[in-house]
Amino acid sequence: MTRSESRHFQGVLQAKQAELSAFARGLDDIRIEQAPDAIDEVQNATMRDLAIRNLDRDSRQLRLVRDALRRIEDGSFGLCLRCDELISPKRLNAVPWAAYCLRCQEHVDRAAAAEHSGDSGGDFAEAA
Ligand SMILES: [Zn+2]
Repeated sequence: MTRSESRHFQGVLQAKQAELSAFARGLDDIRIEQAPDAIDEVQNATMRDLAIRNLDRDSRQLRLVRDALRRIEDGSFGLCLRCDELISPKRLNAVPWAAYCLRCQEHVDRAAAAEHSGDSGGDFAEAA
């Protein structure tokens, strides 16, 4: 990765970091009002769940963006964390905070999915 390339990605990542931080701060301002009746309460709970889910997703992405910025600092940006191979420029352009090459990402995603599959195991047990 050339100096100008990493500067380019640094700019992209810093913009993304600013965007995600601003959004996370905005959510702090959401106040769930005490609802006068049950319907509003359900609505509020749904909105709160949605806000928390969004915040959760964004804070995860923010962490990935910060990690990528750190890798630019220490010069390891663009290298897969798992196999040390170069992550393809096409992938980095699409996902500048990618920590893994496509092959390893699939492996990591599969491992994460397997880890979480225990949560919904009850459905299968009931069917059988
Ligand atoms: Zn890899």
